[in-house]
Amino acid sequence: MPLVDLHCHTTASDGRLSPAGIVEKAAIRSLAGLAITDHDTTAALPVASIAAQRAGVTLISGVELSADVDGRDVHILGFNFDPSHAPLRAHLAAFREGRLERARAMTRRLTDLGAPVSMERVLAFAGGGAVGRPHVARALVEAGHVDTMGQAFMRYLGDQAPGYVPKRPVAPATLIDLVRDAGGVTVLAHPAESIDEAFVREMAGIGLRGLEVQHPSHEEATAERWREVALSLDLVPTGGSDYHGFRPGDEESFGTYGTPAEDLERLFGRSVRPLA
Ligand code: AMP
Ligand code: FE
Ligand code: FE
Ligand code: ZN
Repeated sequence: MPLVDLHCHTTASDGRLSPAGIVEKAAIRSLAGLAITDHDTTAALPVASIAAQRAGVTLISGVELSADVDGRDVHILGFNFDPSHAPLRAHLAAFREGRLERARAMTRRLTDLGAPVSMERVLAFAGGGAVGRPHVARALVEAGHVDTMGQAFMRYLGDQAPGYVPKRPVAPATLIDLVRDAGGVTVLAHPAESIDEAFVREMAGIGLRGLEVQHPSHEEATAERWREVALSLDLVPTGGSDYHGFRPGDEESFGTYGTPAEDLERLFGRSVRPLA
């Protein structure tokens, strides 16, 4: 069955491949389509849509939004929206500005912790895209404070680690409304990482459309459990690779995790609006 990968990242946020590069890779891996879901930016979409047209791959607008739930970082995927919707663009621009301040705060923390990295290097790794912890992690590796990005998260940047600084808190309901106003739908990303069933039920009650069930961080039994939750709440189960290109397992995941093309209509209703 043809699959559409509804979760992957490019150099516009913290992915390794360019927007055109990931589209070409999708074609090589025989994906029918994909949604690029960069963190808090849609900057990849214009170039990606040209590449998708050329490669014969369906491209759906996407984004991975950061929400705060009682101090926890919860990710909400937005799909099939109008990327030029002004309130959405304004939210993303403001949120990325907050990411920049946060990255500065993290570099100050790291100096205090005896593992200094320069903001210039962090920004160089971000390459003008949405700056995040992976760029700080790469600066930590480059400076020789750690050997791998995984180690950087373990020692310094992970949610419980001493160099961690949270992002600006935004309520999930705000993001669900924002994407809906932009003509799209929202899906709760990788629920096993941060969320319980009661929270999913609450989100379903305020307009969430889907739940990401197939994700590399979910064991088979975990995926099965979330699939049952999705079905019981009338949410569409989705799948995606969350490909970044830096993590072990990424290469195996890309092309194997996805959403069956026939489920897209259920997710988007009759208004699937591919960019290419
Ligand atoms: P941020 O959005 O700035 O808080 O950064 C979160 C991102 O860091 C996630 O989307 C992942 O791409 C990345 N990440 C989280 N944990 C790890 C890890 N252990 N190793 C490498 N990257 C990670
Ligand atoms: Fe990421
Ligand atoms: Fe995520
Ligand atoms: Zn992601």
